[in-house]
Amino acid sequence: MHDFHYDHEELYCEDVPVRKIADEVGTPFYLYSNHTLENHFNVFDSAFDGTDHLTCFSVKANSNLAVLKKIVTLGGGMDVVSGGELFRALRAGADPRKVVFSGVGKQVKELEYALREGILMFNVESSQELVALDQAAGRLGTKAPIAIRVNPHIDPKTHPYISTGLKKNKFGIEMQQALEDYREAQKLKHIEIIGVDCHIGSQITEIDPFVEALRKVKELVLTLREESIHIRYIDLGGGLGITYDQEQPPHPREYAARLCEEMHGVDCTLILEPGRVIAGNAGILVTTVIYIKEGTEKTFVTVDAAMNDLIRPSLYGSFQAIQPIVKKPGKEIVADIVGPICESGDFLAKDRTIPPVKPNDLLAVMSAGAYGFTMSSNYNSRPRVPEIMVKGAQFSIIRERERYEDLMRGEHIPEFLNT
Ligand SMILES: *Cc1c(COP(=O)(O)O)cnc(C)c1O
Repeated sequence: MHDFHYDHEELYCEDVPVRKIADEVGTPFYLYSNHTLENHFNVFDSAFDGTDHLTCFSVKANSNLAVLKKIVTLGGGMDVVSGGELFRALRAGADPRKVVFSGVGKQVKELEYALREGILMFNVESSQELVALDQAAGRLGTKAPIAIRVNPHIDPKTHPYISTGLKKNKFGIEMQQALEDYREAQKLKHIEIIGVDCHIGSQITEIDPFVEALRKVKELVLTLREESIHIRYIDLGGGLGITYDQEQPPHPREYAARLCEEMHGVDCTLILEPGRVIAGNAGILVTTVIYIKEGTEKTFVTVDAAMNDLIRPSLYGSFQAIQPIVKKPGKEIVADIVGPICESGDFLAKDRTIPPVKPNDLLAVMSAGAYGFTMSSNYNSRPRVPEIMVKGAQFSIIRERERYEDLMRGEHIPEFLNT
């Protein structure tokens, strides 16, 4: 459930008419509901009550400081995949003891940064990373707490770009190799083995793949125990899907119930790394219709938001619902909703049935709170759009719209071009 709803044919975010925000800040902009974020986090986290667990929000889904601060306030930890994300998490007040660090290409300076900050766990993705981490910890005179991210070879039945637990994916270490790496890790002086990690993909709408993955991880934990390698944390990653269109993902309570059942008697703390399920439906992208062009084969509705603002439709062919901010009567049309960018791949929707529109009408691209702003770019020298958060009847700009000057920040024309 989310807090975007119609009242007298007009879309509200909590108690604020979206149109009012558009009038004040202009479009496009991302709009997040404080209450939806809170509700989603609490529903997810409390579903695991009764089992030792830590919910680490996946920062890459939405890394705005205000969003992270909200999660911190609710008691959440953070799953980061870069030094920059760690910096953001800490700036938002995250407790380093609740931060896990994933990613296949952690650089030495990122490892050192995270070691100095004293994070909970490094999710190691290769044998070489293990060695680099041991050396970094040695230099800093400390020990690195680790889990090995295993690749359990499970098909999550999602888009190939967001499935990560198959042997052909770059993520994690295959089970057999992982066992050997744990044995090697045991010999490293500056490594402390504390967990096993996996993350099989994103936008997963069935529970079975998660259960299968957890079973494989459990098996490894038991094998390791026989060899006196004691695992205290099982990190099952994120990946629970949401409804964009017709999908019927399991409720977090069903998902949690199945996982908690599997965790029974394992004597480990369960770590979860949800991103999309917390933030996805807590945000929308608001855009204005610029022109409508009737071709012989298609009608194009050109709006002021583009693939640089929201790349999911272009990148994954994903569906994002599009709704009017103010509903009006009239015959529906079928159109491609496209942006101003000079690419045929620049679209937000194709062959979509929408209510009649005219220039200056406002539209909401729904379910845009995760992998929306964080994947945005400045392509075509388009300033990145502002992010706004609503709480009750108030709203606040949590990231300003970029100005043209911001587009050139850090650029220099060398002296040798001035002659
Ligand atoms: C992206 C990612 C997540 C979050 O995935 P969601 O589908 O948004 O829940 C969690 N863990 C890791 C390692 C990731 O890369």
